[in-house]
Amino acid sequence: MSPDRPDRAAGASSPEGLDREVDAVVIGSGPNGLVAANLLADAGWSVLVLEEQDTIGGAVASDSALHPDYVHDTFSSFYPLAAVSPTIRALELEKHGLVWSHAPAVLGTPYADGHWAVLHRDRDTTAAALEQRAQGDGDAWLEMCRTWDAIGEQVVGALLDPFPPLRAGVGALTRLPRAGGLDFVRTLLAPMREVADQHFSDDGAKMLLAANAAHADIPMDGVGSTLMGWLLAMVGQNLGYPVPQGGAGAFSGAMARRLTSVGGRIVTGCRGEQVVVRDGRAVAVRTSTGEEVRVRQAVVADVSAPALYGDLLASEDVPDAVRRRMRQFAWDFGTVKVDWALSGPVPWQGAPSQAPGTVHVAETIDELAEQSGHILDHLVPARPFLLVGQMAAADPTRAPAGAESLWAYTHVPQEVRGDAGASAGTAGITGKWDHDDVERMADRMQARIEKYAPGFAERVVARRVLGPREMQARDANLVGGALNGGTANLHQQLVFRPVPGLGRAETHVKGLYLGSASAHPGGGVHGACGSNAARAALGHARLRTAVSVVRSLPQRVAGGRL
Ligand SMILES: Cc1cc2nc3c(=O)[nH]c(=O)nc-3n(C[C@H](O)[C@H](O)[C@H](O)COP(=O)(O)OP(=O)(O)OC[C@H]3O[C@@H](n4cnc5c(N)ncnc54)[C@H](O)[C@@H]3O)c2cc1C
Repeated sequence: MSPDRPDRAAGASSPEGLDREVDAVVIGSGPNGLVAANLLADAGWSVLVLEEQDTIGGAVASDSALHPDYVHDTFSSFYPLAAVSPTIRALELEKHGLVWSHAPAVLGTPYADGHWAVLHRDRDTTAAALEQRAQGDGDAWLEMCRTWDAIGEQVVGALLDPFPPLRAGVGALTRLPRAGGLDFVRTLLAPMREVADQHFSDDGAKMLLAANAAHADIPMDGVGSTLMGWLLAMVGQNLGYPVPQGGAGAFSGAMARRLTSVGGRIVTGCRGEQVVVRDGRAVAVRTSTGEEVRVRQAVVADVSAPALYGDLLASEDVPDAVRRRMRQFAWDFGTVKVDWALSGPVPWQGAPSQAPGTVHVAETIDELAEQSGHILDHLVPARPFLLVGQMAAADPTRAPAGAESLWAYTHVPQEVRGDAGASAGTAGITGKWDHDDVERMADRMQARIEKYAPGFAERVVARRVLGPREMQARDANLVGGALNGGTANLHQQLVFRPVPGLGRAETHVKGLYLGSASAHPGGGVHGACGSNAARAALGHARLRTAVSVVRSLPQRVAGGRL
């Protein structure tokens, strides 16, 4: 299988000869679309997935465009949320060729004096190293792990279920006393800065927790930062940050192969242009190839909420109230990502003996806060916080022996009004995100790595920069480089996602479901948005069948057919 073209292996086909009528059309083949399609096909429905790009997978894809000997994940790389997701686990993708791989250590943060804070897969090893730097930090880490043991699985269940999470919520409530009761709830709701300061004294321990919160756009002083940081840190501690062997495309490829094995079909190079609505129900999808596919049961849209309500639905099919609320929809931060093909490993100072797959480049919570402060002020950050992926450390098949396939991404404002990093006499970054802008940003990011890894530049064989424009061109959902389908801040979560009053996969149009990261519970590769959409569609179909059986009873009785 070619990891950069999972569509070939997965049996995706070209638009010619589209089915005329199916039970369900899924628009978009991101992880949420593929999860939804698998669940619908498992229920015996005929399912057609339309994907506008030539390759499947959305933000779960890999390629060798930078250098033929290296595989780079085009977007996402680490899948702790898939590892903990009951839906993705139940797909048993390992039976369809998916092999997970792990770096020797999960994640780490380098410091200018050459020491590191490292999250090891063994909690005692993590804690012992933290304790060595600051007495009490190791015990505090182990205490956090015990809380996870008591309630972690139930919290994950409650977060991933449709809102309100009745079944999983009850499970979490019954476990709450063991996890510390209301004190635990208060901790999760408190801002990350406060929680990290209360639990730990050393910056390294604080960053093992806090830097995970910076994966989303929640500021360190925002509600939700602790929940996000605790969740990712504890999943990392207990399950690691796994990567698919061969590249992220192998993950999408396995989902696609599973889908085709149960009768689903994927068509690439075919955009879903319009959802046709009749009498308040989605009845067909018009495609960019000029065809109309009739739909018996459901349309699942793995597109962004603004694309669904602003493009795919005709304006007369969108009620004023929804249109008005969609005007308040907030994107998450933009992103600039750099890929490097390196001749050897990153020459980190004091490199840990067990290489972490993920590296967080920022030493303190203040640095994280400075970066998000700049972004909220519409400034390009002066000292960008880098999320770095050492992919050959996690999966040696990604690069020639001894070499490294590296990436780093950082966040930038959606709308730029200035550059906090511009120095006198040098051109600042304008926010047009043209070639000059993204290259300057990449230089700034590379300089951050060079500070902790002198000699880094000499190992660079090739470099590619994907700015906000390049991301969106490769996946229409990544508007301005937003990677979470909309802000993860509380005002756009739960019943407020994507806008107040929706909160679930169901839309105001019968048979039309929003199944992308713009729906609850949001970004990340956990498949919950797609699974919630598929389950809602199947539930409604069962209800319709039951209602029509009940309605036909009098006739059947009269006709002696009962
Ligand atoms: C740079 C980057 C790094 C990330 N890192 C991680 C990570 O390490 N771990 C993690 O868990 N998450 C990560 N994420 C987030 C994660 O990848 C996304 O949250 C996730 O992919 C969302 O899945 P989705 O199915 O909702 O949408 P997407 O993955 O964006 O897929 C949407 C698909 O729909 C297609 N599409 C859109 N409109 C149409 C249309 N009209 N017709 C047909 N097709 C259409 C697109 O082409 C695309 O294939 C990252 C994201 C980015 C961008």
